[in-house]
This record gives sequence, C-alpha cells and structure tokens, in this order.
Amino acid sequence: MKRILVTGAGGFIGTHLVRSLREQGHFVRGVDLKLPSWSTTQADEFWLLDLREHTNARTAVTGIDQVYALAADMGGMGHISNPALQAPIMYNNTMINFNTLESARRMGVSRYLFVSSVCVYPMYKLDQEQIPPLRESDVYPAQPQGSYGWEKLQAEHLCRYYHQSYGIETRIARLQNTYGSLSAWCGGREKAPAALCRKIVEAKMAGTHRIEIWGDGKATRSFMYVDDCVRGLQALMESTAHEPVTLGPDRVITIDQLVDIIAQIAGIEIEKVHVEGPQGVRGRNFDHNRAKTLLDWQPDVSLEQGLKVTYDWVEQQVMEVNSA
Ligand code: NAD
Repeated sequence: MKRILVTGAGGFIGTHLVRSLREQGHFVRGVDLKLPSWSTTQADEFWLLDLREHTNARTAVTGIDQVYALAADMGGMGHISNPALQAPIMYNNTMINFNTLESARRMGVSRYLFVSSVCVYPMYKLDQEQIPPLRESDVYPAQPQGSYGWEKLQAEHLCRYYHQSYGIETRIARLQNTYGSLSAWCGGREKAPAALCRKIVEAKMAGTHRIEIWGDGKATRSFMYVDDCVRGLQALMESTAHEPVTLGPDRVITIDQLVDIIAQIAGIEIEKVHVEGPQGVRGRNFDHNRAKTLLDWQPDVSLEQGLKVTYDWVEQQVMEVNSA
C-alpha cells in the first residue's frame, strides 16, 4: 500500500483516479479547491487547499510517496481559448505546478506524475483535418495552444529538470481529449463530448432535434474514455519512462461524426447547425507507439461504449436539474 496524493481530486479525472487507487488498496489523499461536483469523494482524506500557495503545497505532499499532479485551471475550448483568461490560466497553473513539484522534492516524494495535454503540440502542425500521426518528439519547434499549452510545456520541462538536477522520479502524461461520467457538462468548462451530450439530451427533450455546433464540424479529434485514461496514468507511474508519453486512442473522427454517434445513442436524428465559436486546431492525430511499447498500454473501451455511459449520465443530470 502506498500513500498517494491526487491533486485536482475534486475534478473529473481526479475523481475517477481516486476511486481506482482506493480500489487497489492504496491510501489516498485528495487535494483541490473544491469537493467533487457530481459525486462524493472516495479519498481517505480530502483537503481543501489552494495549491497556488506554497505553504498549502507543502502541507499537501507531507507524508506522501507518490503524487499524481492533476490540479489545473482548465476547461473546454470556450475556457482555454478565451482571451480574457490567458493570463489567469498561465499564472494559476504555473503557481500550482511549481509549488507542487518543489514541495514534493523537498518533502522526499519518490515519484511525481504530471498530467500534461496534447495542447503542447505545435499549432502549425495541426492546421489540417488529415495529418500524419505526431510522435512525442514532434512537439518541437514549439508553438503550443495558448497559455494553457505553453504552461503545460513549461511544466513538462520543469519535471525533466527536477529529475536531472535532483533525481526525483518524474513522469509526464500527455492526454488526448478525455471524456466520461462525472465531468463538467454545463457552466462553461465542459468539453465537446459532454457538451454535445447535453445539447442532444435537451434537443430530444424539447422535441426540436436540432443542435448548434461550434465550427463546420470537420475538425478531427480522438477521444479517450476516462477508465482507459486512469489505467494509463497508473501504468505510466509504475513505468521507468521519464520522457513524455501521449495517451489516447488511434481512432480519429470529425466533430460531426462524434455528433452522429451520440445522436444514434439518443435514438434520434439530429439536424446540425454549424455556428461561429471557438474551435481550436483543425486536426489532431497522434502516434501512441511509446505508450504501447513502454507501458504495454492501449485503450480498450470503444467510443460507442464510452459515449453510451457518458450520454446516460448527462441525461440523468439534465433531468434532475429540470425536475428540481
Ligand atoms: P477538472 O477541471 O475537472 O479538474 C481539475 C481540478 O483542479 C479542478 O477540480 C479544480 O478545482 C482543481 N484546481 C484548479 N485550481 C486549483 C488550485 N489552485 N488548487 C487546487 N486545485 C485546483 O479537469 P480534468 O478534466 O479532470 O483534468 C485533470 C488534468 O488533466 C488537468 O491537469 C488537465 O489539464 C489535464 N487534461 C485533461 C484533459 C481532458 O480532456 N479532460 C485533456 C488533457 C489534459
């Protein structure tokens, strides 16, 4: 049994990761600004701490063997591409990441896994729908996506240098879009899968069968179910990989195809109305050979299976709000 800290334990992936680590018999401390929004936490202890404060980060890592560093100011495109939020996102995430890693090494944490994002990949290589799969090393020359992407790349380097200078065992996971139950589905931080599930639930309930989609629907993405993500993070933590590892499925689809799959799950035909809105990069496609080789990991939940669980959960949330 290890003593494990999950930062961002009140968030989407953190909630699922805490559950999984507890099921394996570990002692888990969760830290976040808030408790989980859509469930109770399964952490042994849950501390409400703002990791932008150095003393809080010191408190958080005290007596801990391993840290999963998930805490971040983040959200969907509507959040991370908002011009007014670029400075706060950079400031908040820099403070969280510098404080947490520095505290971890001072307090003798043995392993530290930083959760990065595919937003670190250069925007000039993602400017078309069909692109060749990018390997981890293709992140250079750098042009990450907005302050969120720059800060993630900076924190990756911080991990690399902390390993080099201090010997702390650092791990870096670059996540593709991750979806599932217990994620934000309204309020401005929701990402495409949950947002589209909500729109389709509402269109079905209203009988309009018509939804608005940001952009022309042709941008390409891959989507990873949260259980696969959590399994990948743990495999990475237990590995010897110091270099970044991109986690996600090989399957690439368009946003319109994502809508079609969700509409099929909902059992309705959907009229897609493409409107102006934040869209992010044009295409995404990543090579996952490093994860397959070093971690013996690949996703095993299909998009149809994962979206069914997600859709049912979002539908339940919408119905509860409407009946309240
Ligand atoms: P989330 O927003 O649900 O969780 C992040 C949590 O961090 C939130 O609960 C938030 O309250 C907490 N937090 C923010 N500021 C904090 C602070 N100052 N002190 C303590 N806690 C703070 O997001 P998520 O989807 O669960 O993402 C988890 C991690 O995975 C993040 O680092 C994110 O950048 C990364 N990631 C997620 C995805 C995805 O598709 N969900 C993709 C790539 C990377």
